[in-house]
Amino acid sequence: MEKPTLGNPHNTIEILQKYQFSFQKRFGQNFLIDTHVLDKIIRAADIGKDDMVLEIGPGIGTMTQYLAKEAGKVIAVEIDRNLIPILEDTLGGYDNVRIINEDVLKLDIHRLVWEENEGRPIKVVANLPYYITTPIIMGLFEEHVPVVSITVMVQKEVADRMQTGPGSKDYGALSLAVQYYADTYIVANVPPNCFMPRPKVGSAVIRLNRYEKPPVEVVDERLMFDIIRASFNQRRKTLANGLKNSDRLDFTKEAIMEAVERLGKGPGVRGEALTLEDFAGLSNYLARLQS
Ligand code: SAM
Repeated sequence: MEKPTLGNPHNTIEILQKYQFSFQKRFGQNFLIDTHVLDKIIRAADIGKDDMVLEIGPGIGTMTQYLAKEAGKVIAVEIDRNLIPILEDTLGGYDNVRIINEDVLKLDIHRLVWEENEGRPIKVVANLPYYITTPIIMGLFEEHVPVVSITVMVQKEVADRMQTGPGSKDYGALSLAVQYYADTYIVANVPPNCFMPRPKVGSAVIRLNRYEKPPVEVVDERLMFDIIRASFNQRRKTLANGLKNSDRLDFTKEAIMEAVERLGKGPGVRGEALTLEDFAGLSNYLARLQS
């Protein structure tokens, strides 16, 4: 039998009290208590019975219930073991949900996709724990986990960072990774009162649709992202100095100066002024020197 849906304050408080659950700040626990927001996320995620969904951080299972109704299968990965008995209770009526008690950053998601979906691309849907938004998103993309789309609640500021370009203080490695791998759009802005407890910042739901082919051609992706990280690790330094000081890069000073010169932006240019195309060109030039 299906359990009562949770996406409202009354039912959420009831289940929390039943299990005497106390929120763990360190796990970024802000549970959704607004059915309109849940409806919007589910609609934007565009899930059907052919889809396998990975939910990161199901909490008490609020969104998981919605996902289970739409998807063929839902894998919900939750780090907090105190939430597992609650999830077993609230998701008891669904036979297409698997709960995994694990830190998502330690999980071999590739293997999971092979075991659970025969390697076919999955959809990721989550109200993410904000303290690890960047490693989760970068990890899914850079490890080439087969995903069709990622529909996630993140801090509003992080959603902006994903979409911004050169010239903004928010521009960085996350912006470039997201824009290299995916087309993005903001589904909704979500105020703090839609969560329990209320976060201090505004949130946004963003959908990232993975490109079949990235918008720029890159010979060695790993090298490009090492270059991007080196450029933004030392924001105040010039691009040339950032690249020279990186212990992940091993190019001569001359090669770096030549590569920077070819950008046509002057020798003192900083990484934050470079577009994705610039980083692709720069890394392709340096990749050829390596081969
Ligand atoms: N999905 C629920 C909702 O919308 O109400 C809860 C979202 S809450 C913002 C984030 C959830 O992620 C929490 O349940 C938290 O315990 C879990 N979490 C935090 N760090 C995690 C990690 N490293 N791996 C898996 N889950 C994690």
